[in-house]
Amino acid sequence: MSNLHRSSIEEIKQLQWLQLKKQLIYLDLHSPFYQDKFRKSVTDVTKILSYDDFRHLPITTKEDLQEHNEDFICVPREEIIDHVTTSGTLGIPVSLGLNEADLQRLTRNELESFKLIGVEKGDVVQITTTLDRRFMAGLAYFMGLRELGAGIVRTGSGLPQLQWDSIERFRPKYIVAVPSFLVKMLQYAKDNNIDISETSVKAAICIGEPIRELDYSLNTLGKRITEDWNIDLFSTYASTEMATAFTECEVHMGNHSQPDLIFTEILDDDGRHVKPGEIGELVITTLQNETMPLLRFATGDMLTFTDSPCTCGRNTQRLSSVMGRKQQMIKLKGTSIYPQNIIEILTNFKGLDTFVIEARRNDLEMDMITVKVPDNVSLERIDTLTEIFKSRLQVTPDIELVKKEEIELLRSPEEKRKPEVFRDLR
Ligand SMILES: [Zn+2]
Repeated sequence: MSNLHRSSIEEIKQLQWLQLKKQLIYLDLHSPFYQDKFRKSVTDVTKILSYDDFRHLPITTKEDLQEHNEDFICVPREEIIDHVTTSGTLGIPVSLGLNEADLQRLTRNELESFKLIGVEKGDVVQITTTLDRRFMAGLAYFMGLRELGAGIVRTGSGLPQLQWDSIERFRPKYIVAVPSFLVKMLQYAKDNNIDISETSVKAAICIGEPIRELDYSLNTLGKRITEDWNIDLFSTYASTEMATAFTECEVHMGNHSQPDLIFTEILDDDGRHVKPGEIGELVITTLQNETMPLLRFATGDMLTFTDSPCTCGRNTQRLSSVMGRKQQMIKLKGTSIYPQNIIEILTNFKGLDTFVIEARRNDLEMDMITVKVPDNVSLERIDTLTEIFKSRLQVTPDIELVKKEEIELLRSPEEKRKPEVFRDLR
């Protein structure tokens, strides 16, 4: 619904409210989980007449979805076509299902997402993510591009050689990729003397990882890609639970919402709305889906929003990149920061080739941060680093000089498969 983005803010709100009401009644009729929740909280959904009423409805947590997974299913089992799971980054993966209506909704969602980016009929798009492995998004990209009438190259995940070979063969204009995989591809090109100065690729549609800061400028990851490869980067934000993508338009100032498919709230710790530009947790209600709709689901993703019209002419709400997970928030001397804020500063600091960040809680139950850096860094450089922390974060973590080997050991504990730059010891 491209026109929806360009409707007035008031019209968008009205349409969204109608969808929200419809979804509430649907859940009350079909969802064992929400029927139980409404009964326990003595909620009569027909009496929810405004957003003020709505925001008193209980929050759905990830634990709810994990522990009562089957109770969220609103349709007969045999109606489910596609069975998928969440990635389970912070816990056990959760099962979700899609019926015919949901698959059509997913197609529309991705179609709109590609349209926001500017992908047109006849453009060739290379999908470097898996289309199977119980992954919802891969299938969504394929179906959205089919609907759009684009050409599709399904290379799947990994295999840099296959990726570059496909780019040469099929001349895609766009590439859908996890940004850190693009870094790997670029490294592979360098190591194998692949000339990437004249590729057909004009833009990458980045998924799974943030590429921008809160002020919309590229973060370290984004910069690393564009320094080596002259292409445009589009940020997207999505999750399996949401079954909806938030996507950047051509002006790259936040990820546009699709208000007919998802209702968003950005809340503080007390469940109150934060103001535009303030960091809060994203709480979502999925709209127009049938198998497992979620009502006021707390995503754990901390971000900011803006609801002023975008310079692209669209009036839909925009979300920033995710600043961190709610559980990872650090309250340092009264200021809320995320590991990512510290990692960004350290990664950009010249001459620092390794570090590790540790979060602890002191006797007074206050968060403490120690940044361990190699002892060959001069005290003068440490002073500069302290100044940068002060100006960027308003607070300074403790900086400790230790042997480089100790840092390496802390970063790669045996029980972990991936290096750990942030160690949460709270
Ligand atoms: Zn825009």
